[in-house]
Amino acid sequence: MKVLLVEDEQKLAQALSKGLNLEGYTVDVIPDGKKALTRISLHRSDYDIIILDLMLPSMDGFEVCKEVRAMNITIPILVLTARAETDTKVKLLLAGADDYLVKPFSFAELNARIRALLRRPSETLPETLEFGGIELNPSKRKVTRAGKEIPLTLKEFGLLEYFMRHPNQVVNREDLLNHLWDFNYVGFSNVVDVHVKNLRRKLDGENGDSVLETVRGIGYRLAE
Ligand code: CA
Repeated sequence: MKVLLVEDEQKLAQALSKGLNLEGYTVDVIPDGKKALTRISLHRSDYDIIILDLMLPSMDGFEVCKEVRAMNITIPILVLTARAETDTKVKLLLAGADDYLVKPFSFAELNARIRALLRRPSETLPETLEFGGIELNPSKRKVTRAGKEIPLTLKEFGLLEYFMRHPNQVVNREDLLNHLWDFNYVGFSNVVDVHVKNLRRKLDGENGDSVLETVRGIGYRLAE
C-alpha cells in the first residue's frame, strides 16, 4: 500500500513516514499543496491513500482536496488539521475529504483511521485473500500456504498482496515499482525481480510448481 503524505512540517512528516514504513506502507512526502496536486494528477493510480495537511504553502488542503475530486480521483483522503471547529469539519467533508484527524493525534489513531479508509471501498472483500492454497491476511500481515506459515519481509508481503489483489493478471514491473517503492528510490532497476525471486523461493518451498509466472519482457502473473 502506498501513501502520499502532504505535510510541510518536516519533523512531523519524518516521524509519520517512519511510523508508516514500519507498518508496511510505502510513503512519498510532498511539503507543498500545488506540487502535491500535480503529483496526484499525474500518478493517481500509484496511491492508495492521501494524507493531507490543511495548512500548506502555495495551496491549502481544502483547495487540494476540491481539485482532486474535481478530477474525478477517488483515492481516500485523510486530512490533518489543527482546527477542530465544526465548520471546518463540515467544509472538509464538503470538499471531498473522507475523514480528518485533529492535531495533535497519536500514531495509533492515525493508523486505525488509515486502515478503516483502506477497508471501506473493498468491504465486500474477504478479510483473507486466497489463491492457489495461499492465504494472506492483510491486517495480521500473515501468509500461509497449505496451512503452513511463510515468513515474509515487508516488501515481499507487499508484492504478494498486490499479486493476490490482481490474480491471473499480468502485472508489469513498473506498476510494482510505482506501487511499492517511493519516488526517492534510486537503487538498481532490477530490484523488483530480486524481491519477486525471493518471494517465489519462499512461496514454493521444496515443490517446483510455482504460482508466480514470469511473463517475459513484461512482468509477472499469479496463476494456478
Ligand atoms: Ca502545515
